[in-house]
Amino acid sequence: MRKLGDTDVLNKTVALRVDLNVPVKDGNVLDDARILAIIPTLQYLQKQNSKTVLISHFGRPKAGVIDSKFSLLPVANRLGEILNKEIPLFTSIDEVNFHEDISMIENIRFLPGELINDLDLSSTLCNLADVYVFDAFGTSHRSHASTYGAINAAKKSCAGFLLEDETRALKKATDSQESPTLSIVGGSKISSKLEVIKSLVQISDEVLTGGGITNTFLKAQGNNIGISLCEDSMLSHAKELLATEKILLPNEVVVSKSMDSDASRVCSIDSVKDDEKILDQILSPTVAEKISVAKKIIWNGPLGVFENDHFSKGTKDLANAIALSDAYSLAGGGETLLAIKMFIDKSKLSYCSTGGGAFLEFMEGKELPSLSALGFKF
Ligand code: ADP
Ligand code: MG
Repeated sequence: MRKLGDTDVLNKTVALRVDLNVPVKDGNVLDDARILAIIPTLQYLQKQNSKTVLISHFGRPKAGVIDSKFSLLPVANRLGEILNKEIPLFTSIDEVNFHEDISMIENIRFLPGELINDLDLSSTLCNLADVYVFDAFGTSHRSHASTYGAINAAKKSCAGFLLEDETRALKKATDSQESPTLSIVGGSKISSKLEVIKSLVQISDEVLTGGGITNTFLKAQGNNIGISLCEDSMLSHAKELLATEKILLPNEVVVSKSMDSDASRVCSIDSVKDDEKILDQILSPTVAEKISVAKKIIWNGPLGVFENDHFSKGTKDLANAIALSDAYSLAGGGETLLAIKMFIDKSKLSYCSTGGGAFLEFMEGKELPSLSALGFKF
């Protein structure tokens, strides 16, 4: 992969594609992890005396419509606070200049060419600067004008430091032969995680399931799951996966009549009632032991509806158990990282990916187009 450290950026202008799609409420950034993640690249570029213009998307605005709800202004302000300098935000590409060390272009998805990978837009973007640096791991599974398109169109393009770290951490997780390897896949829907479960089954000794995904497995195994979230169309896939004998299911779960209810009870997986929903699981001593002896742990997806206190214990206990383990531990996924932030110090894990969809696709063994364009070998 072409790397920033091997690219001449001394006194050069740089267009830096980053993923600053962070949660924002009332003009305030709620979680700045993705902003902090690009600081090493920015600091290096500053040391190289290069002038940088940042390019990012933010949310899903209607293409071609400038909607202030999706402005990057709060993000530019937060970055400015972190770096203790003002970050000018250009509302259009025509305004771009390199008067300041670091500046930012308004949400790239305001432009109609971004999602359709328009070649003219790709050329315009990479021609803004001497070098096109791609550091947006979270969008590397997309072929958009500012990702795959601009990387290919640029005379000089390379990966930033975040991308290097991410790919190193993810490749270590998929390629290293450590045993026992325990993977955990939770979250709401098995259909969105089927491919990742299949590929994790191959590289893991066991895969612990959680969340709505567990419900489908329990039903496939013949358990009554009441009115729990379940995908009947996935039952045959679940049966096939159960046949590998690598799928770990809970013995005890937390059930309730409703997700918003305060009333809940713990029961064995054999005694869920018809009008109950499984909303969390109990981390058994056996699973806790497996976590503590694992050499490698890959985690995506919460074990329950952790956003509600009554159904957060499974995910919280899991996070704490992983934090205590000496294993090489990798986590990824939007809600997974939110849970990690809520329950533990994320530095207790070996690596937390900044990617959601990109993380899953990498784990599925897919080739991510923007990484391939940078010469990354999967
Ligand atoms: P990630 O973003 O980490 O990949 P997902 O998006 O797949 O995770 O799933 C996260 C969501 O799954 C959470 O919002 C959580 O409330 C929900 N969830 C977890 N367990 C259950 C369950 N038993 N029933 C319904 N929803 C669940
Ligand atoms: Mg999610």
